[in-house]
Amino acid sequence: MKDSDIQKLIFSKMSPETTMRPLKDFKLNVSANTGFQKVFFSVRCLQEECDTAALLSVEIAMSKSDLEIENAVSSLVERLERQERSFYSMDCSMHGMMKTGVVDD
Ligand SMILES: [Zn+2]
Repeated sequence: MKDSDIQKLIFSKMSPETTMRPLKDFKLNVSANTGFQKVFFSVRCLQEECDTAALLSVEIAMSKSDLEIENAVSSLVERLERQERSFYSMDCSMHGMMKTGVVDD
């Protein structure tokens, strides 16, 4: 499955209220992660004066079949939602320090 297809699949399973947005054609140069497809979403702080954006991501092993990916989608969504919650649980002084940072699991 292509990164963009995985992204679409994940996004289709998210709650309609999600604030996450699929990040198109975003590639991070992480040579350490060969063998994995990485799919990115972005979130943005709702406080106008803060407006920090963060990247959320999940990794899927290249060896996974389409069916295995489909079966894993709900856990991928959960991982992203956990990252989303941790982003919103930080206060804006922390957002300011991270400015377009990456939120890990
Ligand atoms: Zn903020």
